[in-house]
Formats: sequence, structure tokens, C-alpha cells
Amino acid sequence: PVIRSAEYVTSAVAPQGYPQEGLPEVAFAGRSNVGKSSLINILLGRKKLVRTSATPGRTQTLNFFRINDAFVFVDLPGYGYAKVPPEIRKQWGPMVEQYLTTRRELAGLVHIMDLRHPPTADDLQLWNWLQSHGLHAVPVLTKADKVPRSKRLPHAQAASRLLGVAVTDIVLFSATTREGVEALWARLLPWIQQ
Ligand code: GDP
Repeated sequence: PVIRSAEYVTSAVAPQGYPQEGLPEVAFAGRSNVGKSSLINILLGRKKLVRTSATPGRTQTLNFFRINDAFVFVDLPGYGYAKVPPEIRKQWGPMVEQYLTTRRELAGLVHIMDLRHPPTADDLQLWNWLQSHGLHAVPVLTKADKVPRSKRLPHAQAASRLLGVAVTDIVLFSATTREGVEALWARLLPWIQQ
């Protein structure tokens, strides 16, 4: 779609802080440093709308961005960053789980993983949790530019086996070359055009 506007709305840690316009929401999750901020910025064609969040020790929040006054992107805090203090780490599960299980506006989730490596234990834990809760989720393997062409399919196949999805359901993405942008938007459009 043409992105006419993309603006930060608010940050929240609990339902009282979520926006109340009732617009459909697409959430983005992934390990810290996987390339989540880069992916969102590329999708929106905005260089620095979303900044890298994982400053160790900083309070983690859900960050809401309103797009075209029609839908909302929700940047979930990155998980699995070893340097985050345990007390902040402990917040991640309940805060994200509460959002994912109660938010009626949530249309689907983009789960970002790294094409260079098989999904991690943390990745699989979240993916399996999403499946068991019946949430719509699209797996994206990013940093595809870092993987030689001959290795991309085998890497995607390994991920598809671990995730339990068809390899054709996985979107390969690169913020550097912008490959996968159209394919990912094609998966998101049904979620936001309701
Ligand atoms: P986040 O912590 O998940 O939001 O990750 P960032 O978007 O901040 O990216 C983490 C690092 O990976 C940064 O140095 C990015 O420049 C780099 N990066 C992100 N996406 C890609 C990609 O598709 N290809 C390459 N080569 N680097 C990427």
C-alpha cells in the first residue's frame, strides 16, 4: 500500500495504556537484534520511525504506530537478550502474553527470525505458543542477504521443519536488499483490510 502517514502513538505495558481507536493491529516479535526495527522501517518506507529498543536494563514496552489512520503496527519488545537484567526479562512473558491473549484488535503477528541460523529455543517457544493459542502468525526469516543463494532454500527448509509449516509459507526478507517486502505486505493486507 501507499504509506501516507506513519506515526508513533504511544507505549504501554498494560491494557489501560493501549490505544482505544479500535483500528486493526499487526504485532511484530523477534529476538533482540534480529532486525525487527529495520524490517518495520522498511515496510513503512520510513528510515527511523522505529528505533532499536534493546537497551539493556531499559523498561520494555509495547510501542504502537498508527499507519494511514487505518491500522496499527505494534512493536513488541525483543526477547532473548542475555544482558537484560532478570527482573526486566521476567516482565516480557506476562506483558506480551496479556497483549496477545486479550487484545481484540490484534489481527495477526509477524514473527521475525534469522535466516542464517535455525530458529532458537526462544523462537520455537513463542512460535509454538502462538500456534497453540490459534493466533494468525507469519514466519519471516530476515537477513537473507547474509546467506548465499545456494544456502537459502536449505536454511528455509530446516526452519520449516522446526516450525511445522510449509516452506512456501515462510517469507524470506532482507532490510538491506528489500527482498520480501512485497511478499510480506501480501500476507498482511488481509489482516488490515477488514
Ligand atoms: P532489532 O533489535 O530486532 O530491532 O534489530 P535492528 O533492526 O536494530 O537490527 C539489528 C542489526 O542488524 C543492525 O545492525 C541492522 O543494521 C542489522 N540488520 C537488520 N536487518 C538486516 C538485514 O536484513 N540484513 C543485514 N545484513 N543486516 C540487517
